[in-house]
Amino acid sequence: MTNQLATCIECGCNDFQACEHGCWWVRVDYKAGLGVCSECAHRVKDWDRGDQTLSGATRMLLETPSGTDCRHE
Ligand SMILES: [Zn+2]
Ligand SMILES: [Zn+2]
Repeated sequence: MTNQLATCIECGCNDFQACEHGCWWVRVDYKAGLGVCSECAHRVKDWDRGDQTLSGATRMLLETPSGTDCRHE
């Protein structure tokens, strides 16, 4: 299975869970699994500079092991 899922570096939204008001990718790199969504357009200039630093919230989301533990509550 190919993982065609990108996560926003700023807010942590992804292809399956968009922002509350809906969003789209302004920048996306599926190989890296990262992107900048339209709600976080202020990070585009960082992204274009090569700064794909994750925000604290996104880091927490990505470090939460959801793929390994498949129990659904
Ligand atoms: Zn975002
Ligand atoms: Zn978003």
